[in-house]
Amino acid sequence: MTSNKQPNHPNNMKIPIVITHKETNHKKTVVLTFDDGPSEFLPKILDILKSENVPALFFWQSQLVETHKPWQRVLTEGHVIGSHTIDHPNLSELSFDEQYDQIKDSSNKIERITQQKVTFFRPPYGQYNSNTLKIANQLGLSTIMWQIPSYDWELTHNPEQIIENVVNQLENGAIILLHELPQTVQILLALIQAIKQRGYRFVLL
Ligand SMILES: [Zn+2]
Repeated sequence: MTSNKQPNHPNNMKIPIVITHKETNHKKTVVLTFDDGPSEFLPKILDILKSENVPALFFWQSQLVETHKPWQRVLTEGHVIGSHTIDHPNLSELSFDEQYDQIKDSSNKIERITQQKVTFFRPPYGQYNSNTLKIANQLGLSTIMWQIPSYDWELTHNPEQIIENVVNQLENGAIILLHELPQTVQILLALIQAIKQRGYRFVLL
C-alpha cells in the first residue's frame, strides 16, 4: 500500500489522500526528504547527495527562500522542491483562510523564484486537519508525510542514532524524514551508504 485514506467525509466529498510511501513495482526503493530549509547546511547536503548520486525532495519554508539561495543547484542536480508553508505554523490550529494563505503563498513564492511548478506539500510537524487536505487538493498539491521518522531533530549529540533509527525501519517505498541540520549532515554519507548496503536504491515521488 502506498497511501493512507482519511476517514469517510460526511458530505461525500472527494477524499484527499496523504502519501507516506511511494507506490512502485521496484523492490527496495526509498525516498529521502529534507525539511525546514533552505538552510546554511544545504550546500553540504547537496555535495553528499551528488557524490552518492542520490535524488531527494526538499520541503522549504518560503520565508527562507530567496533568489540568492542555491535553489538552482537543487533543481539542476535533479532534486525536487516542495512547500513547507511560509513560516512553519501548526496548521491544525489555524482557520481555513489562514491555512490557505500559508499553503498558497508559500507555493507561489517558490514558483515565482524557481520558475518550477510546486506539486508537493508537507505540513509542519506533520500536523494537519481536513481543511489542510481540502486546500492542498484545491491547489493541486499532493500532501506528503513520511513512513520513517529519523528523529534527527532530537539527536544533536547522538547523530549515529539517526542511522540506526532509519535502517531499523527500512521498508520498500518508504518516505524517510530528515532535516537540514548539522547532525544530519554529519551522518548523511554513512546513512546513504548503510541504506545502499541493504540493497535499497533512492527514488523521487
Ligand atoms: Zn518542519
